[in-house]
Amino acid sequence: METEHLKCDVLCVGGGIGGLMGAIRASELGAKVIVAEKGNVMHSGKGGGGCDHFLCYIPEVHGTDMETYVQEMMQTQQLHNFDTLGMKRVRTHIAKTFDIVKLWDSWGIPTRQNGKYHFAGHAFPGGLRCLLKYEGRRQKPILTEQARKRKVQIVNRIMVFDVIAKDAVAGAIGIDARTGKIFTFEAGAVILGTGAVVRLYPAVTPGWLNNNATRPSLTGDGRLMAYRAGAELQDVEMRMLHVGPKYFARFGQATWVGVFRDPQDRAIGPFVTRPEGLYGDITPEVNKALFRDHWTSGRGPVYMDGRGISDKDYRDMMHWFPHEGLTPVVEHMKEEGIDYRKNPVEFMTYDHGCQGRIVTNEKGETSLKGLYAIGEELAPGVSNASVFGWLCGEHAVNYLKHSNRPDASGMKEQVAEKASLVDKMLNRKDGADWREVNIALQQIMQDYAGLLRTEALLQAGSAHLARLKRKAYEIIKAGNQHEVMRALEVLNLIEMGDLVFMGALGRKETRGNHVRLDYPLTNPRMNGKVHIQKKVNGKPVSEWRTITG
Ligand SMILES: Cc1cc2nc3c(=O)[nH]c(=O)nc-3n(C[C@H](O)[C@H](O)[C@H](O)COP(=O)(O)OP(=O)(O)OC[C@H]3O[C@@H](n4cnc5c(N)ncnc54)[C@H](O)[C@@H]3O)c2cc1C
Repeated sequence: METEHLKCDVLCVGGGIGGLMGAIRASELGAKVIVAEKGNVMHSGKGGGGCDHFLCYIPEVHGTDMETYVQEMMQTQQLHNFDTLGMKRVRTHIAKTFDIVKLWDSWGIPTRQNGKYHFAGHAFPGGLRCLLKYEGRRQKPILTEQARKRKVQIVNRIMVFDVIAKDAVAGAIGIDARTGKIFTFEAGAVILGTGAVVRLYPAVTPGWLNNNATRPSLTGDGRLMAYRAGAELQDVEMRMLHVGPKYFARFGQATWVGVFRDPQDRAIGPFVTRPEGLYGDITPEVNKALFRDHWTSGRGPVYMDGRGISDKDYRDMMHWFPHEGLTPVVEHMKEEGIDYRKNPVEFMTYDHGCQGRIVTNEKGETSLKGLYAIGEELAPGVSNASVFGWLCGEHAVNYLKHSNRPDASGMKEQVAEKASLVDKMLNRKDGADWREVNIALQQIMQDYAGLLRTEALLQAGSAHLARLKRKAYEIIKAGNQHEVMRALEVLNLIEMGDLVFMGALGRKETRGNHVRLDYPLTNPRMNGKVHIQKKVNGKPVSEWRTITG
């Protein structure tokens, strides 16, 4: 198999918002940086279609006491995003947000409207508005341009599949999704920014595997690489839900201006009674399962109702939609002659997959020396990805100043192992392709580690998954290099499924969307604790740890 060896100081795995920001900063500080990206950095990742809300604290707008801002923010959906990260890290993040916003503005990502910072959406009426509106439609090409300006080497279409490490990180290995060439990267520090986990649970439209709440190529690769290399993961069993227009899984709720109502036109939440541009209807952010619960209890469907919206709010909303990646929804409404001002739009709860994260400290360092994790490896949001991408770029460069380059010779063995797996996939005449295996995985996850969990269900599902895993390695086949990438993703997802089962069995309580029928209580003794999973001497180990900071 053809191979290419590349050397750098800092390797950013994933060229999303986090990865690019890390690369820009590390390069600015004099490091030789490579971004290895599975797709194309110009439009890959969750931020590829655009975003329009930036969590940002501006003293002149919010007052000089940042704590008031933090307290308000932690009552919105940011609570679910950040509550188990540790408040020290959260405060580090928020304190840096305005600097990054100014930087983005100077690079050509507009963050002001008519010269002013405008905050709207994701907010309780009368409360502090924490999210800055910005025009993020072109954020990826602009960040790419900034990275290129600083001589960051970008290698697109490379799926990185393993981190090389002994006591500290020494690099990573990947495969070109078009040519099959194996890439070995020798690096002093590696920043993982491979985003969220999807395709573990079924999509909202059966048969359309990729109709997920985010990009289909975000398959938790970073978390699995970190775990295999010895870093710690946290709360993998917790489930993440998302809401948006029915069956349009990728298009979110925050930019819509309206009121969530039931079929009898009753508002389902207590916050707004008429469309309100400054705040939106924050009801589902308090409980994202609400639409699903209305549906299953016979009280649904639930509609986003824009009737009565003012002309200005409507104009504004239509302006912001394309910035938040909602162009396909706008096009669809045009095509079907749907006027939002007259036609309420049905919404639903989507199952986003799992919420867990790579364990890091407030510098973004994992438990493995030289390995950093950013963005959705930890928590959702543009602000989190950009701020911690930037800060990790700095920390990685500092780390390099004070550490010796570890030996990367272990690469050969890992390369040979993966090359043999890829060879088998490509040369199999009979077998199952990635879709078949992925669907089998999703069925197991949904039926045995889905909305309702019990010891018996989890044990049974775990046994089914073990069989699927064994079989998948024996039969999965790929017709071309693209399918090799998809198959490797599915094998990663199976491993993630395994961790979800282990985590769910170990969490003997009900908390959030992890519902254990056999342990219906939310155990107050578990408040402020996180569930850690790691490999010790090749064996999975789990423990509970108190959140510090
Ligand atoms: C439609 C939509 C609208 C949104 N709007 C907002 C908003 O207004 N405000 C907000 O705060 N958030 C918003 N979000 C969320 C926000 O976009 C994400 O939280 C943010 O982009 C995450 O950045 P990231 O760098 O962590 O991950 P991503 O941007 O998802 O990037 C991960 C990158 O890693 C690459 N990758 C994955 N696996 C590998 C691998 N094995 N090897 C190499 N590369 C790999 C992927 O291709 C991808 O480019 C929105 C999301 C969506 C889908």
